[in-house]
Amino acid sequence: MNKFSEVVKQARAAFNSGRTRPLQFRIQQMEALRRMIKERGPDITRALAADLHKVLLPRNGRPLFGRVGQRRDRDRDSRENEWTSYYEEMVYVLEEIEHMIKKLPEWAADEPVEKTPQTQQDEPYIHSEPLGVVLIIGAWNYPFNLIVQPMVGAIAAGNAVVLKPSELSENMASLLATIIPQYLDKDLYPVINGGVPETTELLKERFDHILYTGSTAVGKIIMTAAAKHLTPVTLEMGGKSPCYVDKDCDLDVACRRIAWGKFMNSGQTCVAPDYILCDPSIQNQIVEKLKKSLKEFYGEDAKKSRDYGRIINARHFQRVMGLIKGQKVALGGTGEEATRYIAPTILMDVDPQSPVMQEEIFGPVMPIVCVHSLEEAIQFINQHEKPLALYVFSSNDKVIKKMIAETSSGGVTANDVIVHLAVHSLPFGGVGHSGMGAYHGKKSFETFSHRRSCLVRSLQNDEAHKARYPPSPAKMPRH
Ligand code: NAD
Repeated sequence: MNKFSEVVKQARAAFNSGRTRPLQFRIQQMEALRRMIKERGPDITRALAADLHKVLLPRNGRPLFGRVGQRRDRDRDSRENEWTSYYEEMVYVLEEIEHMIKKLPEWAADEPVEKTPQTQQDEPYIHSEPLGVVLIIGAWNYPFNLIVQPMVGAIAAGNAVVLKPSELSENMASLLATIIPQYLDKDLYPVINGGVPETTELLKERFDHILYTGSTAVGKIIMTAAAKHLTPVTLEMGGKSPCYVDKDCDLDVACRRIAWGKFMNSGQTCVAPDYILCDPSIQNQIVEKLKKSLKEFYGEDAKKSRDYGRIINARHFQRVMGLIKGQKVALGGTGEEATRYIAPTILMDVDPQSPVMQEEIFGPVMPIVCVHSLEEAIQFINQHEKPLALYVFSSNDKVIKKMIAETSSGGVTANDVIVHLAVHSLPFGGVGHSGMGAYHGKKSFETFSHRRSCLVRSLQNDEAHKARYPPSPAKMPRH
């Protein structure tokens, strides 16, 4: 027997006990999760700092859980409402919990549907039921968020959830294994830690749904393993998310926003703008304005900035440094292996055939590729796999609408980056090689529920159905 069989069996037994069915139980578990985040915030923050050099504490010293949604103040002198990496990881989860608790009664209620002429006397409706035992496999780049945010939806929908954090963010992995059982039902929500051999073993078990976050290559392995049990999957993967900057655009604002989204977490963000497409006539201005923003954010030397992250491990450090080789470096281009620091890097006049344009960068390197028109940018994007996100900056609404209409991607933000994923009412997921299925908000509840079609009919009035019973009338036309 597989070494994880017992854990999965226990989770299934707990699910079969029926205790996740009452909404009150699910709400209690989500409240416990919220309590865990509030009480163990400092531990979570320490693990983030140890794994990814994420900021330890907010600078203003205010309570960490103030009003959600107060983000970066544009005025750099006022560092009062500073958005910290802490917020990147936890605020969305807390918002998700609030939203889920508030909306759960409405979403879980039976949903009456339109009646046909034949079902006027009946009661057709959709009933949302839990799937059973769900497996959530997380990635290392937002090691808290990518495990706990999908977990919120799975709990709300009434499932047992087996959690498999990434082994690469080892501090977070071991912390989650310690604290989750201290706050939540121990049998329903086990945490399993380990690397590829352990995950391979775990995937031999039968689950009722798997939500995986990580690379496209491993996504194929997950889907293959799931297929053996006919288990449905949600695959949250990545890709090269393009960022088109139109000539008709406020470049100061655009570059500040792009620099923020690209270089947060040292570029290790699945929805980071991967590369810029722009007309050659604005390339120099873009470079200068990106540099200016980077200096404002991280000072003269990003290595000394408490806001600037580090690359997760030596392998990724080497990989990202390799992508810079042979390129025209407009800024940065250097790294320090011992601390896995890579300076914020901008590459100009990048050849679309070069290695940096062949794979998702997932590091603090921004290549600029020149195109001569919006049409050429669209053509360029459509020649590649469908990305997880797409960004377009323009003051011209027609440019934005054309870009959206003529390309495909998991999601889009126009005139900013990343923020579409923070909107509960927008499902978050990829398309094609960037993923399948989605979650966040109501979509999470739906992803982890079976929407069961129900029709309740009375035993009375069988006369109304008489026409369907054989024998058919003698004069019926023959088919
Ligand atoms: P990773 O190395 O942490 O792998 C992700 C998970 O897959 C881990 O839990 C790991 O244990 C497991 N895994 C790895 N190899 C495996 C194998 N051979 N068999 C079974 N399981 C295996 O993360 P990663 O793959 O380096 O993640 C980076 C990628 O994830 C990027 O492409 C990024 O864009 C994408 N990503 C996507 C999202 C999203 O929400 N769509 C979020 C974060 C990251």
